[in-house]
Amino acid sequence: TIIAVIAICLSFIACQPEEQTSPYEQEIDKILAQMTVEEKVGQTAQFTLDVIGEGENVYSSHFPFKLDEVMLKDVLVNRKTGSILNTASNTPLSLKEWHAVVSRIQEMAIETTGIPVIYGIDAIHGTTYTQKATFLPQQIGQAATFNRALVHKGAQNTAYETRASNLPWNFSPVLDLGRNAAWPRIWETFGEDVYLISEMGEEVITGYQGANKEEIGQYNVAACLKHYLGYGTPVNGKDRTPANIPLQELIEKHYEPFVRAVEAGALTVMVNSGIVNGESVHASYNLVTKMLKQDLNFDGVVVTDWQDINNLYARDRIAKSDKEAIKIAFNAGIDMAMVPYDTAYTCHFVELVNEGEVSMSRLDDAVRRILRLKYRLGLFEKPVFDYQEYEKFASDEFKADARLTAEESITLLKNEDNILPLSANHKILVTGPNAHSLRSLQGGWTLSWQGEKVEQFIDNKNTFLTSIKSHAKNVVYAAGVSYKKDAYWKEESTNIAEAVKAAKGVDVIVACVGENTYTEKPGDLNDLSLSQNQQDLVKALAKTGKPIVLVLNEGRPRTIPNIEPLAGAIVHTYLPGTFGGEVTADILFGVTNPSGKLPYTYPKHPNSLMNYDYKPAENRTEMEGAYNYGAVQDLQFGFGHGLSYTTFEYSNLRVDKTNFTATDVLTFSIDVTNTGQRAGKEAVLLFSSDLYASITPDNRRLRGFEKVELQVQETKTVEFELKASDLAFVNLNGEWVLEEGDFKVQVGSEVLMIHATQGGQWANPFR
Ligand code: BGC
Repeated sequence: TIIAVIAICLSFIACQPEEQTSPYEQEIDKILAQMTVEEKVGQTAQFTLDVIGEGENVYSSHFPFKLDEVMLKDVLVNRKTGSILNTASNTPLSLKEWHAVVSRIQEMAIETTGIPVIYGIDAIHGTTYTQKATFLPQQIGQAATFNRALVHKGAQNTAYETRASNLPWNFSPVLDLGRNAAWPRIWETFGEDVYLISEMGEEVITGYQGANKEEIGQYNVAACLKHYLGYGTPVNGKDRTPANIPLQELIEKHYEPFVRAVEAGALTVMVNSGIVNGESVHASYNLVTKMLKQDLNFDGVVVTDWQDINNLYARDRIAKSDKEAIKIAFNAGIDMAMVPYDTAYTCHFVELVNEGEVSMSRLDDAVRRILRLKYRLGLFEKPVFDYQEYEKFASDEFKADARLTAEESITLLKNEDNILPLSANHKILVTGPNAHSLRSLQGGWTLSWQGEKVEQFIDNKNTFLTSIKSHAKNVVYAAGVSYKKDAYWKEESTNIAEAVKAAKGVDVIVACVGENTYTEKPGDLNDLSLSQNQQDLVKALAKTGKPIVLVLNEGRPRTIPNIEPLAGAIVHTYLPGTFGGEVTADILFGVTNPSGKLPYTYPKHPNSLMNYDYKPAENRTEMEGAYNYGAVQDLQFGFGHGLSYTTFEYSNLRVDKTNFTATDVLTFSIDVTNTGQRAGKEAVLLFSSDLYASITPDNRRLRGFEKVELQVQETKTVEFELKASDLAFVNLNGEWVLEEGDFKVQVGSEVLMIHATQGGQWANPFR
């Protein structure tokens, strides 16, 4: 019996999640023991330098060029603030200015509390708060490359440039599932598919943080996974409207990228501002403490989103005061409050601790996590780096990486009668509101939140228009529709007649349409259709009988059912960053061969969206053979769609075992041959379909992707390793199950059947 008891004890111990300790715990113990409650509370506060002082923009007139010492003292000495974010300035800073700003902040913070401040920033597609930094395509374009190595390198370079700016914490990547096409943050995501998001997310995290999360080096930054959990399917598509997500789907899809990212070592998580299944996420002990911190063994920092503690009172009405909101959020597991709106934050929090409403151990846990992050980043040892040591900042190497990523993101959606590539001898009309705009190449955050001045610090000012001009001598330009410079540049003015007149003498029309930039709520839509003015422009141009190439430069799939038939070719650029104009022109003229594929479903009508993987909505026999299996009603372009100037043939799909059990790893191989006339790159995608299951299975799911480059007539064998347990789904109780039965596997046109002879079941989240 003794042996049995010992065995039971041992197995119990073995089942417990391992207590994670960093090498810094003893140092942290010492600091915690000396801290006052005010100092501890100060560590949990994160302010931006413009909203201190009862909501007035007291800093913005001075900051950053002249740091106001009085104001700075208010933040760092009176409030003992542990973290700062963003800037109020409408101007990005130079490396030298960032160095001066951060040096002064650290000096004052360390003098006051002995603890360095952690500065956080949204460097979401490059270090956009720093002059001359390298700007990649926004995340949606990065996903369209289906190229892990490029995404990894882009994250590495961004980390380098962000750290060169003395900013050690990046509020990126977005791991939300972009599953409502109208949502104004679709372009900040890696699209709608959980596997693609999880894979790209992992690349970004290891790219930002490097290999060892305990020692983030001087060229790396801490990642911040956002926005946990369920942000990407707002009920009406407008930002921060509530989401209703079945538990089954929440765990199987929305949670999964965060599970993978925490496993990959992500150091911080930002919480979803919204309400999911009736619960404010910032108040959810279950989502924050249980599912994130305990179940995933997450020992990093959980930060709120903007003023979201206040929102528990002011918006969600689950707290009767700002003070109660602090209590609810911290007891749910929040560690840091981004911009506590109420300036009495510190007093309220100290009172809550003295009243026993927030326990000292909870506060200590939050502070421990924050201090751990600061140690991991080496801030105690070296709070400021010499920016001059960062020679690779904005280097040709980094720019070439960003350019290649942009190039591989551009997605050719249609090319009837091979209207593309264009010839240099063509006489071309370039038209549309996006034809000559740096804003729409970069996208939100860069050229909206931060004002227009960013533009002057972008060295490369090539637009679609200027880039097309560098390929062809005979180019005329008439915008036809222009964005007005109102608060959000949403309004359009038209001069369609001028464009039509200009079209008369040309061989081909390149119409650059889409969206102007927006970030978050200002991008809310009442109608996903492409604007009426832009549709009118294309319709009027079509009447001239000239062939039309449509360039869709937009952050989400604006629907185009009436103008798609009028265009011979359609190129989707997403928000491609600095090099977007050049690489698009290279593709239009055939200098490069397009290789991007859609990371989301492109619906035909505003109300016809269903994500590609979603449950069937039609009779299955009718679905078979239909492109994308028919679940998506009135599809314009399917997930994974993207053309090339060459042709690829898929053959010989095979697997090492057609019968498998839950613990097996399956290896699939497929031969891909370039059967066309020119070299090209192809993203090879592997999908699976569970044919019958105890709850309606998804139509099909992406399970693997690899990008290959093939010369003419060249064949490559592409291999995919798939854990059988990855074919599992989450049942209605929230458990992972693999059921016995048949699965169809498809790569390109090739199909094979595999069979699970024995199932498996796993407790969430592991399998
Ligand atoms: C956004 C976050 C962002 C934060 C800080 C919020 O409005 O939702 O994504 O990281 O602001 O700038």
